[in-house]
Amino acid sequence: MRWVDLHCHLDLYPDPAAELEACRLAGVAVWGVTTLPESSRRMRDLAMSTVPGFQVGIGLHPELLHEHLDRVETLIDGVATSPLVGEVGLDGSPEYRPHQAKQLMVLDRTLQACTRLGGRWISMHSRRAASAVLDRLAAHPDAGVVVMHWFSGTRDELAQALMAGCWFSVGLPMLLSTGGRARVAAMPRNRVLTETDGPLARASGRVQRPIDVRRTVEVLANVWNLPTRDAETQVWSNYLTLMAAIAPPCTTPIEQAIGPRKGTV
Ligand code: MN
Repeated sequence: MRWVDLHCHLDLYPDPAAELEACRLAGVAVWGVTTLPESSRRMRDLAMSTVPGFQVGIGLHPELLHEHLDRVETLIDGVATSPLVGEVGLDGSPEYRPHQAKQLMVLDRTLQACTRLGGRWISMHSRRAASAVLDRLAAHPDAGVVVMHWFSGTRDELAQALMAGCWFSVGLPMLLSTGGRARVAAMPRNRVLTETDGPLARASGRVQRPIDVRRTVEVLANVWNLPTRDAETQVWSNYLTLMAAIAPPCTTPIEQAIGPRKGTV
């Protein structure tokens, strides 16, 4: 494997199995995040144990949660059996801001569960709410390894996120905008990973597929002023470091692919 899509809504493609097979053939490791917790079950069925590098997440998207508060317990229960938690977080856009108290309650409960269980990988949404997310992470410093998805905070917030040990997953839409490129250029290279946010995100008018991260690395190489091959190696090495950062509770496809982690029984 050589490439990573660290934030992909695999369950939302018309044929998730075909996307996953394309990833297997191309050598793309995928984090499958969900917008509702019950989608996690469908993806687990899909994952089987034969797809290396495929991590099934469980999440409740901050844009949806105020209409799905009855799913919060499913999310919290699911954290126990899922090494990857996402998509979770806060959204401070005008249309979702009125639901901020509910978002904060769910994020706090999620981070508490992650902490109680010894830490999780977390794919974190923070649109127009970077400061509030960082505040919650400071309150739950042992929740796990946090990957900020499509981070759009200020330079100060970026510095604060780095101090908190956060990683960043960046996609083509971000890399193709002037502000996004500047933000990515300001991130340390050893904390950056690639993502698509497909099929919800589009780049150049086209729905993103997880195998499109190969193009993302090319653009990232341009931002970094590196040969594409070196950017590929950097991102893949970041991914291996990230995957070794915590010991999840159960054997996962990535462990079968790269061997067990130190300290894993
Ligand atoms: Mn997303």
